[in-house]
Amino acid sequence: MTLPSLLAQTLTSYCATPGTAVHVVEVGGSSVQSAIFEAGVVTFVDGPVPEASGEGYAFTSPGLVIDGRVWGATQVGWDDIDAWRELGYRRRPDVSMNDAEAAALGEWLLREERPNSLLYAGIGTGLGGAMIIDGEVVPVDLSHQLGFGDSLCDGCRKGCLNAQIGGQYLPTDLSQHDKRRIVEQLATGINGARIPPHTVVVLAGGLVRRSHPDLVGALREQLDGVFAVEASAAPKAAKSAAYVGLFERLTEVRRAEAPARQDT
Ligand SMILES: [Zn+2]
Repeated sequence: MTLPSLLAQTLTSYCATPGTAVHVVEVGGSSVQSAIFEAGVVTFVDGPVPEASGEGYAFTSPGLVIDGRVWGATQVGWDDIDAWRELGYRRRPDVSMNDAEAAALGEWLLREERPNSLLYAGIGTGLGGAMIIDGEVVPVDLSHQLGFGDSLCDGCRKGCLNAQIGGQYLPTDLSQHDKRRIVEQLATGINGARIPPHTVVVLAGGLVRRSHPDLVGALREQLDGVFAVEASAAPKAAKSAAYVGLFERLTEVRRAEAPARQDT
C-alpha cells in the first residue's frame, strides 16, 4: 500500500484542478527524497522539486522543525536555518515537521489495524524516536534518553542513547557483537521510555531497512512478552513512511482552511 485509500481520495480532491500536484520532501543525513502525488499516484524522486510546488508542499527533516525552519539537525549540518531556502524553494512549506514524527504518523496510517499506541524508532544517521497515541503525535523520551555512557551526542552534548546507536556513531560494518549491543541498548531505552502497555514498536530507518533488516527480529526477541515489534510498512521505494504522515498533515491544513468545502 502506497497510501491509505481515504487519504488518497482526500488528496485527489485537494488537487481538484487537473494537472496540479502536491508533494512532500524528506531530508535525511544521507539523501533527500520527494514524493509527488498527481492523478492519484505517488511517484518518488531524488532531491527536492521546488519547480513543482503546485498546490502545496510539505517538508520534513531531523531536528526541531517549525514552519520550515530547522534547529539542531547536526547530521544535515542545519541549525537555525530556513531549510526551504536551502532546498531552493521560494516560499515556506504548508506543513513541516520532524522526520521521526512524520514517519511515526505514516507507519500508523499505513497499518490495516492501527494500534492505540505506536512507538517509532528509526536508525539512520541518527536515532529518531516518536510516539503516536490515538492518531496523535505525543512527546516521548527515546533518542536523547540519558544514562548510556560517556560518548557525547552532537545534538544534546550528553551521553544519550543516540550517541550509542545513531548511525553516525556506529562502525561502517556492524559485527554480531555491535548488533547485539544496539538491540540491547535500544530495548533498555524503550523500556525506560514509560510508554503504554500494548504499544507496537516499529523499528525502521535507513540503516535497518536497507542494510540490517535482521535487527527487527533481534529486537523482537529482546522485547518478547513486553512489546510487539514490527518492521516498516512503507514501500521499498520510499525513504521512510514520513511521506504518508506529511500528506496527511497537508490534507488537515486544507481542511482547516476551507471548512465550508466539507459540506458541499
Ligand atoms: Zn543526544
